[in-house]
Amino acid sequence: MDEPSTAGGAAEATPGRGRPAAAVPSPSLSGWRAVADGVHVCVAEPDAVNLGLVVGATGALLVDTGSTPEQGRALRASVAGVTDRPLVGVVVTHAHTDHAFGLAAFDDLDTIGHESVAERLRGPESALLAAGLGVDPAELRPPRRALAVATSVDLGGRRVEVVHLGAGHTAGDLLVVVPDADLLFVGDLVEQAGAPWWGPDSVPDEWAATLDGVIGLMTESTRAVPGHGEPVDREFVFDARGRAAAVSGELTRLAGSGVPEGEALAAGTWPYPPEHVAGAVAPAYAALAGRRRGTRPNLPMA
Ligand SMILES: [Zn+2]
Repeated sequence: MDEPSTAGGAAEATPGRGRPAAAVPSPSLSGWRAVADGVHVCVAEPDAVNLGLVVGATGALLVDTGSTPEQGRALRASVAGVTDRPLVGVVVTHAHTDHAFGLAAFDDLDTIGHESVAERLRGPESALLAAGLGVDPAELRPPRRALAVATSVDLGGRRVEVVHLGAGHTAGDLLVVVPDADLLFVGDLVEQAGAPWWGPDSVPDEWAATLDGVIGLMTESTRAVPGHGEPVDREFVFDARGRAAAVSGELTRLAGSGVPEGEALAAGTWPYPPEHVAGAVAPAYAALAGRRRGTRPNLPMA
């Protein structure tokens, strides 16, 4: 596998996750480990992203795809080491590199993403990031099945639900809910390994409300697999929800106080290291100035 290039703008610009790309490890996949009965997680470098595998009686479903088509192919091959059930579908929790750039390896399957993902993958930021990884942007594939709100996948004796509760980390964050395992995959709406990242494509003023929806799906015993780090409980998500609200509230206060956009980061008080929050300033100021398109689709109600 090609080493990810650190040359050029892709390593400096942070449209993918808001996360600096310096000093990243080489691409690799860890082994799979079980986090519940028939639910497995592996970790893909260079971004230490959690990838999920849910196995039912007749089929298996992957959650997220790794950073390149080549990593996606390695991921696909690795499934045979866990189960002899056929892989029947793939969900991408959002459009960022480490979650969605491996989609080309699954072109023949039922690939599912939020309806905003295709446009994002065709956009200039994704092309820049792909080039930085040595990937031809033409190899980025949109999900074959776009959803606005929710769908489910039958794996044989096991139903998996895929739902968009709202925006936050991106406009197109999906959850993958495994009701019989009391477990959900929450993508980068929650991060356990360090703090979450607000990128320029984040939706700061909606993140906390979306986490309210996540909390509403959890009990004391439910575990949530974040995009990065170890599974967390409801208390952890409560804490993340409060911090997300604090970020949005502080940006609203700063803008309302007349603090210029370029000074907001330095002027604010933040619940996370400032570099994690820096990407929130532009979209928050744009939203507060009425310069943002709606992040929700117009449903065909007419
Ligand atoms: Zn992300």
